[in-house]
Amino acid sequence: MAELRPAEILLSEAQIQKRVAEMALEIRKDYPDDLHVIAVLKGAFIFLSDLARHMPGHVSLDFMAVSSYAKGTTSSGEVKMVKDLDTALDGRNVVIVEDIVDTGLTLTYLQEILRKRHPKSLRTACLLSKPSRRKVEVTVDYIGFTIEDRFVVGYGLDFDEQYRNLPHIAVIQP
Ligand code: 5GP
Repeated sequence: MAELRPAEILLSEAQIQKRVAEMALEIRKDYPDDLHVIAVLKGAFIFLSDLARHMPGHVSLDFMAVSSYAKGTTSSGEVKMVKDLDTALDGRNVVIVEDIVDTGLTLTYLQEILRKRHPKSLRTACLLSKPSRRKVEVTVDYIGFTIEDRFVVGYGLDFDEQYRNLPHIAVIQP
């Protein structure tokens, strides 16, 4: 397989930081009191840490991990729970924080299983959305950026576990 390298910067660090700060305030405005934020590992770890630091007041956090992608850039179509939450969701205002919504399969699965845990409300925040790739209709309440159908890395997103640490988002090309 030809080596892949991030080729073009799609979103700069400054663009991302500005938008994430805006999203944090928007979410906090909707939930000024109780707010429980759940990040989907690993991709959302940097997004969550920046988002949470821009939220005023007390916010509780939890993490879950699902695996939806085979190695490489193609979806396996399967979603599997790899790590469950540590805390109950009953009566909480819950916001799922995800790196990117692509086909929508992962989020549909997550929303379904989390709704069964009786949160008071359940919303979703995604840094990126690729609407042209959607296979199922899924509600995403807060979207950072809408992008075209290109495989991106950086700011938590990987290609074979590489590039998660980039402060910007880049397109990868063969
Ligand atoms: P979906 O279930 O919506 O198809 O896919 C969601 C997951 O696919 C994301 O959480 C992410 O792990 C992965 N994914 C989708 N598009 C991209 C992309 O452009 N780059 C990377 N690194 N991962 C992606």
